Amino acid sequence: MKKLFAKPLLELKRAELLQKSTQLKAKKGRAPHLAVVLVGEDPASQVYVSKKGEAAEAVGFTHETILFPVDASIETVKNKVQALNRDPKVDGILIQRPLPKQFHERDAVLWVSPEKDVDCLHPENIGLLVSGHARFAPCTPGGIMQLLAHYGISVEKKTVCVIGRSAIVGKPLASLLLAQNASVIQIHRSTPNPQELCRLADVVFAAAGQRALVTREWLKEGAVLVDVGIHRGADGKLSGDVDVASVEGIASAITPVPGGVGPMTIQVLLENTFASAAKES
Ligand code: NAD
Repeated sequence: MKKLFAKPLLELKRAELLQKSTQLKAKKGRAPHLAVVLVGEDPASQVYVSKKGEAAEAVGFTHETILFPVDASIETVKNKVQALNRDPKVDGILIQRPLPKQFHERDAVLWVSPEKDVDCLHPENIGLLVSGHARFAPCTPGGIMQLLAHYGISVEKKTVCVIGRSAIVGKPLASLLLAQNASVIQIHRSTPNPQELCRLADVVFAAAGQRALVTREWLKEGAVLVDVGIHRGADGKLSGDVDVASVEGIASAITPVPGGVGPMTIQVLLENTFASAAKES
């Protein structure tokens, strides 16, 4: 079972983006700038935000994290996001999720101007994506498609199965797969016979958020597995939605957790921020 690590592709992509951002900085007088809004002190979110900052610096971007206490009011955070929308020196804005309970994430995605919505969550950007005219790539699905392309895995005319239908992974991933002429089976919590359907697929995308859900019973011989899940065990180790030991010998390739889909997500976020910065206003 081949391991589809992101690292070799990321090294190429980061070098390319650093070169492009350096050229843009020379032309515009400033580097691309990413603003991250973080509300509360969720430890996992703090790790994700600091990783995004490190990755931004590695490609020559500037970045800032705007921190709010867990009990911040909706108005305070919304006003700040709207000030970032107006700031010409800010190219990309990301509101780190999950948000504390007083917020409705569905409302918060509307605060970010679609032109700076580098997470590709605003309904306008989702509409553009689904209609085949995407302004930004959805970060995790976009990273997955880059990873498959790098390893020469095409979904053209293949049957694929997406396990999960969230707004952040499952749905936009299905749009990208359809755009590449795959026939998409989408499985979710209410699917009565998920394993039987999944066994039809040449490529399986596991994004259910259920640790070790996908076992060999879900797969046909030679299927490629893309593991999107991220779960931290009691020992601190990360694992995905796939039971790796079980699929050994039946899957032909798998994206590892960690080291597969996760790092690609941040790369696409930065590529979107660059695209926003490079746009002639
Ligand atoms: P979510 O909870 O919003 O959605 C999960 C989806 O899976 C739902 O549509 C649900 O119907 C479906 N589902 C749940 N259990 C199922 C089951 N037993 N059988 C079939 N379908 C089932 O989760 P999400 O935000 O889409 O994230 C999914 C996973 O991907 C999580 O583990 C998350 O941590 C991870 N994730 C990783 C990245 C990354 O960068 N690698 C990015 C986003 C999310």
